[in-house]
Amino acid sequence: MQTEFFSHLRCRECGRPYPKEAIHVCEWDFGPLEAVYDYEAIRRQISRKRIESRAPTMWRYREFLPLDGEPSVGTQVGFTPLIRAERLAKALGVREAYVKNDTVNYPTLSFKDRVVAVSLSRAKEMGFTVVACASTGNLANSVAANAASVGLESYVLIPADLETSKVMGSLVYGTRVVAIRGPYDKVNRLCSEIAGKYQWAFVNVNLRPYYAEGSKTMGFEIAEQLGWRLPAHTVIPMASGSLLTKIAKSYQEMIDTDLVEKTPFAIHGAQATGCNPISDAFRKGTELVQPVPKPQTIAKSLAIGTPADGYYAIQTIAKSGGAAEDASDEEILDGIRLLAETTGIFAETAGGVTVACSRKLIDSGKIPKEGSVVLCVTGHGLKTAEVLAGVLGSPRLIDPSLREFDRLVSSDLAKAPIPEETNF
Ligand SMILES: *Cc1c(COP(=O)(O)O)cnc(C)c1O
Ligand SMILES: [Zn+2]
Repeated sequence: MQTEFFSHLRCRECGRPYPKEAIHVCEWDFGPLEAVYDYEAIRRQISRKRIESRAPTMWRYREFLPLDGEPSVGTQVGFTPLIRAERLAKALGVREAYVKNDTVNYPTLSFKDRVVAVSLSRAKEMGFTVVACASTGNLANSVAANAASVGLESYVLIPADLETSKVMGSLVYGTRVVAIRGPYDKVNRLCSEIAGKYQWAFVNVNLRPYYAEGSKTMGFEIAEQLGWRLPAHTVIPMASGSLLTKIAKSYQEMIDTDLVEKTPFAIHGAQATGCNPISDAFRKGTELVQPVPKPQTIAKSLAIGTPADGYYAIQTIAKSGGAAEDASDEEILDGIRLLAETTGIFAETAGGVTVACSRKLIDSGKIPKEGSVVLCVTGHGLKTAEVLAGVLGSPRLIDPSLREFDRLVSSDLAKAPIPEETNF
């Protein structure tokens, strides 16, 4: 049985082939390099049944991932729940809504565990002993955790103004956390310089072609969990724009290998208004992404002012018949609460962005009200809980006395009676 279908890297711009090394840009035109597979061979080898017989992790789609051998890091990652969200759909005014819930991804509660599982497995195949990243928070958490799980040394570089939980969520693993005075773009720029000097595997710099492919597994899972069909509409949060382009790629790969029928799939992008270079360019009808030098948003995980894949994200959205939206901080907070109150899912700010932008896309008819939509919710709310301070009110404080509790409940009942069928 053939197990390797990943043949080489290729420039997205000029198509020149490159060997499977720790490189990420074309020497001729600086285009990004991308993994290439033998889809004909994959099509002959896999089937829905074969995939279904495998363990419920992202690695059940391993033929579509850029490794030479078996994965060695993050072997339990993925296959998060896709839930039918009837009450959320009603609140958003759409016939059918699903939530792809990567808030419970293993081990660090965001979709970044997918990209890290692939890039660290590849880093080990290539013989690297130190791994690193430039991160807006979640990637740092995942690199630190997954590196610790296999004893790799790690450096994670982050903007200095991140949420406390995201900083602690890296430090706890004993990684070397370096906070940079400046926005993410400066962190990323510094990491490129470091990667040129030190022989380290920077997952989203020199290993980016491998890293990025991990995002496809979110799309494969969505289609399988829908009963092997593509969603007509998918709403995806955008930082660099990579996740969005890779979910679209995963849908196309499933069509090309006969895993799903060829049906239209609109890909919609979601950003925060305080850092909206991609959605802004899309709305203006240009592929020229204007950098946002000073992002100002509570959605720090999405605050990338110069998005590496912005141009490709715009092309993907346009070609698929999708659209892009952005949401203010207030709308993001409303989105977090609406999702929690209607589905029981506590998402971080990026999840609030997805919900808020979905509402706008439905209101404007870009997603038809009689249609069906999948919302990609990519990170857990406990990581950004501080944004809710002062928004949710506080618990009602009483003495440990039944009388005080009775008084509290009767005042509640006066305001909003509990339904009659409730039995105490
Ligand atoms: C990184 C991240 C994204 C999207 O990142 P891309 O750079 O666009 O691939 C979305 N949500 C969360 C929570 C993230 O951490
Ligand atoms: Zn090229």
